[in-house]
Amino acid sequence: MTREGPRNVEVLIFGGGAAGLWLLDELIRDGRDALLLEAHELGSGQTIASQGIVHGGLKYTLSGLLTSSARAISEMPLLWRRCLAGEREPNLVEARLRAPYCHLWQTTSLRSKVAMVGARAGLRVRPRKLGDEQRPEILKSCPGVVARLEEQVIEPSTLLNTLSERHRGRILKIDAQSGLELRASEPGLVGLVRLINPDTGDSLDLKPHRVVFTAGAGNGGLRQLSGLSARAMQRRPLHMVLARGDLPLLNGHCVDGMKTRVTITSTRDYADRTVWQIGGQLAEDGVDLAPEALVTHAASELAAVLPRLDPTRTEWATYRVDRAEARTGGGLRPDTFSIIAEGNTVTAWPTKMVLVPEMARRISGLLPAREKDAPMPQEPPDWPRPNIAIPPWEEQEQWFSDV
Ligand SMILES: Cc1cc2nc3c(=O)[nH]c(=O)nc-3n(C[C@H](O)[C@H](O)[C@H](O)COP(=O)(O)OP(=O)(O)OC[C@H]3O[C@@H](n4cnc5c(N)ncnc54)[C@H](O)[C@@H]3O)c2cc1C
Repeated sequence: MTREGPRNVEVLIFGGGAAGLWLLDELIRDGRDALLLEAHELGSGQTIASQGIVHGGLKYTLSGLLTSSARAISEMPLLWRRCLAGEREPNLVEARLRAPYCHLWQTTSLRSKVAMVGARAGLRVRPRKLGDEQRPEILKSCPGVVARLEEQVIEPSTLLNTLSERHRGRILKIDAQSGLELRASEPGLVGLVRLINPDTGDSLDLKPHRVVFTAGAGNGGLRQLSGLSARAMQRRPLHMVLARGDLPLLNGHCVDGMKTRVTITSTRDYADRTVWQIGGQLAEDGVDLAPEALVTHAASELAAVLPRLDPTRTEWATYRVDRAEARTGGGLRPDTFSIIAEGNTVTAWPTKMVLVPEMARRISGLLPAREKDAPMPQEPPDWPRPNIAIPPWEEQEQWFSDV
């Protein structure tokens, strides 16, 4: 039963991962009447599963060239650094840093030495070679160069928490299967959005002036509901590895040739164990492997790239996650974020978390100027609110210990 007439909303955002939450914050700080709808838990999908590295573009220069991907990213670490230090908005001092920088190390192959040279090409964040005594213990016996890279690593759940906490009243939980109706008079022109309260069954009608889809892999379905093509999106699967136990804290990339052979980030789980998330080429190669086979492969890769690692008493698991992006020819990664404006809708994929601030700024710039002296918008009525998604290592049930 609808209780009242449609409520005008200046900007209605679908999806509360890093992209939607950052945009919501930016719009509200700008005095706009923005609401965010979340179908699952905040950050479900990519953000909660990500490694949290504030990339400076280095991994896109491994060919020795300053690629357009690297150029797009190169300005971002300074902006994030200032937010994380509370020197600019959004103030992210409450978000937890997993590490203030990453390490970069290489295998002995000649190709990877070439890559280290190429890695210095034209970036703000550049690797600084470490002397033997400056290396962390786990990298002491690596035969190649070990460098420090000023790429901060954040705990994604705390980013989601910090961004969402200040706007809780403007973030509504929806049931995207049966509790959502989008009415579009023509493709991409959404006139009415009807929500059914998942707890009470009441409905709430919203009349959005602008609609923004930042729902990651959910953008395809939302586009279809708005009469737009879902083919604008591509998914690129990953099969990530988790290791937990008595492991050192390590954050960084092992570079081999033009690839990051493994990217390791470290966190702590509920029992205060160290957990490694292991991605990079390993997670691409693992897509066609069963979990057990991937874990075996991961153990042998780690033995090769971290000769000092003692994996006894380590437990292993894997998780699958798709990267959702704008479609490119050949299914390659887009160079930067993607924004598609059609009718009164905007569909956006950041491609990398680190690009979210610039993407939010650009989306905000597409909106009509806000009327001077417009009244501050009211928060919507009581409605269920989503939680923060649970990280993959806290959800895993199957851990392998005999590898
Ligand atoms: C394994 C992995 C590691 C990564 N590591 C890094 C890294 O180290 N550094 C980096 O910069 N980038 C990294 N990335 C990329 C980064 O995670 C993503 O670019 C970014 O998190 C995408 O954010 P998003 O908000 O667009 O999407 P998501 O995080 O996927 O959020 C989408 C949100 O929309 C919601 N939703 C879905 N459907 C609907 C619907 N119908 N209605 C309403 N809401 C809906 C979802 O529940 C979710 O909350 C990584 C990605 C992966 C997969």
